[in-house]
Amino acid sequence: MDWFAMINWQAGFSDGKFLWVEWHFWKVIGWLGNVVFFSRFIVQWIATEKRKRVVVPSAFWWLSLVGTLLLLSYALFDRRDSVFIFAYAFSWIPYLRNLIIHRRHKKAHVECPSCSVMCPPPSNYCFACGAQLDSRDT
Ligand SMILES: [Zn+2]
Repeated sequence: MDWFAMINWQAGFSDGKFLWVEWHFWKVIGWLGNVVFFSRFIVQWIATEKRKRVVVPSAFWWLSLVGTLLLLSYALFDRRDSVFIFAYAFSWIPYLRNLIIHRRHKKAHVECPSCSVMCPPPSNYCFACGAQLDSRDT
């Protein structure tokens, strides 16, 4: 093996491959699914480290949903493997449900009339300035 072939082999360019993978449309979709799905762990880890407690941000559920749909597409249209298809066929349901619950919870927040901080339900007083939030009792 000459030096040029050696460099190509080490870079994974041999036999028309890149990184030892034979690339085509569905292979790109599958690997994109892997990258998106894996990135959710990094997003969740950073969110947890920032707050110093276990946090699951909505970005985690979005990355889970998109990654799963990409991997399901790859499983359905390229691999056509029943084990692989079943692994991703239903996992999008809890991801979507968590996104809906997250959205509803966010919409239920009440804006403080005094300092404009968004307070979580069912707060009666602003956690930032102590102003009364619910005017139904007055
Ligand atoms: Zn306030």
